Amino acid sequence: MHEYSLVAALIERVAAEAQAHGASRIARVHVRLGELSGVDPSLLSTAYETFRERTVCDGALLSLSLSPAVWACPRCDARLERGQPLRCAACGVPARLLEGDELLLERIEMEVPDV
Ligand SMILES: [Zn+2]
Repeated sequence: MHEYSLVAALIERVAAEAQAHGASRIARVHVRLGELSGVDPSLLSTAYETFRERTVCDGALLSLSLSPAVWACPRCDARLERGQPLRCAACGVPARLLEGDELLLERIEMEVPDV
């Protein structure tokens, strides 16, 4: 499943960050998911629950925030209203997707021991 490889990559990145910061524990992982990312949020959560055991993310919660798709004109930068045709009314050129296809590791809450 697509979601499992995404989660594996995600945990790898968290592990790298944890090591870089000398974190002893990860408390929470914040991920932003675009509505056009093709990723099912509930499948992603399930995959995460399964995968995190015995990794640096064991015991860490996953916070998912969903972001809507944003389209804009590549020529005049006008944002398109939701539900409009994906073409700029003024320039007549096809719109470009600005946001909404991303899976973004936004923030990691980690505990770093005092030195
Ligand atoms: Zn335009």
